[in-house]
Amino acid sequence: MNMEAAAGFLGNLLTYELDLERDFFRPPGTLDELEFLTACSRCGDCKESCPEGIISLFSISYGAKLVNTPFIDPNKNPCTLCNRCVDICPTGALNEEAPKKIGYAAIQKHICLTYKDVMCDYCVYACKTEGAIQLKNGKPVINEDVCNGCGQCVANCISEQKGVQILPLSSYNQSLR
Ligand code: SF4
Ligand code: SF4
Ligand code: SF4
Repeated sequence: MNMEAAAGFLGNLLTYELDLERDFFRPPGTLDELEFLTACSRCGDCKESCPEGIISLFSISYGAKLVNTPFIDPNKNPCTLCNRCVDICPTGALNEEAPKKIGYAAIQKHICLTYKDVMCDYCVYACKTEGAIQLKNGKPVINEDVCNGCGQCVANCISEQKGVQILPLSSYNQSLR
């Protein structure tokens, strides 16, 4: 392996490891974690720009690597995918070219009312992403590849314990292995 190939291989490995580490949620349009950490200037402009007020910045208690970088929690506060945070980001760490994938939804069968023979489709109607969630035989089914993890389904689920949950990309990557 020549030096260039070795560096590329190492870069891929680092990206892979860091992506698996992303067991939290970044705003939509985030570069790969390694690229993101390099590009983000920790300015907080994205936090200020969000009309929903859902972006937080990591505190120093999460370590020097993450401090002042942005995160969201779509299980508590859904993202409208308005794109303001991406538009305002001065460094391209939040980037128009990056996938708008925050995470992905997973039905919690032990909680979802349709698994208790109750008719319900609130999550399906709440979803604005075509093909991300469909009713099949009266039960909601997620297409993980299409779902962007915005969390609108969670916010609109009528079960108090939430029959659908957004999982981080780390578990998505693992599911592809
Ligand atoms: S896309 Fe809009 S709602 Fe979502 S985190 Fe960015 S600014 Fe906030
Ligand atoms: S299934 Fe839920 S998380 Fe996925 S795109 Fe639709 S509303 Fe958003
Ligand atoms: S809204 Fe909640 S309880 Fe109703 S079908 Fe969707 S996940 Fe299940």
